[in-house]
Amino acid sequence: MRNSPKNTGWIEVICGPMFSGKTEELIRRLVRAKIAKQTVTIIKPSLDNRYSEDYIVSHNQRKIKSIAINDIKDIEKLCKDSNVVGIDEAQFFDNELISICKNLAKKGKRVVIAGLEKDYKAVPFGPMPELLVDAEFVTKVNAICMQCGDPANFSQRITSEENQVVIGEIDKYEARCRKCFEQ
Ligand code: ADP
Ligand code: MG
Ligand code: ZN
Repeated sequence: MRNSPKNTGWIEVICGPMFSGKTEELIRRLVRAKIAKQTVTIIKPSLDNRYSEDYIVSHNQRKIKSIAINDIKDIEKLCKDSNVVGIDEAQFFDNELISICKNLAKKGKRVVIAGLEKDYKAVPFGPMPELLVDAEFVTKVNAICMQCGDPANFSQRITSEENQVVIGEIDKYEARCRKCFEQ
């Protein structure tokens, strides 16, 4: 005979290059959870304050209330009473995020993570690779190549800055396909 259901949680990852609709898709999922009267907590790294301190904002101006944090240890406390946890720009958090997300899922929460899986050099970015491996559900979204119109899976930096983390917008990055991407 089977055991009874464990009411387990799970991890969903939404990844892709810049401008591919990760934040849009994250917001879509979280809004639906809110409509269904689930308790939703939304986290982003305080590093990314491009549009707003207290909202996640997509490039097409959708937005949802969020909490900007410095220390990922705060996540567990902030999400104590939530059914659903949304995390945007997850690539900017350190690898401790992986065990934190696994714990949240084990406690029965739905964890929805959006982030860049590779940086401007196309190198795996922060905790994203391991989160992709661990996740129950993975959605990879593409942008449209700004050079040729093919599906864009790469983020081309169009400035000469060389740090892995350079916060920017269309002034600094362009979505590119495999052929148009220049390393
Ligand atoms: P991400 O979080 O992946 O950076 P967003 O969800 O914030 O992306 O924004 C997606 C939106 O970006 C699209 O709906 C579109 O309005 C806009 N956009 C800008 N540049 C592009 C592009 N090259 N390809 C597709 N969408 C783009
Ligand atoms: Mg985004
Ligand atoms: Zn192209």
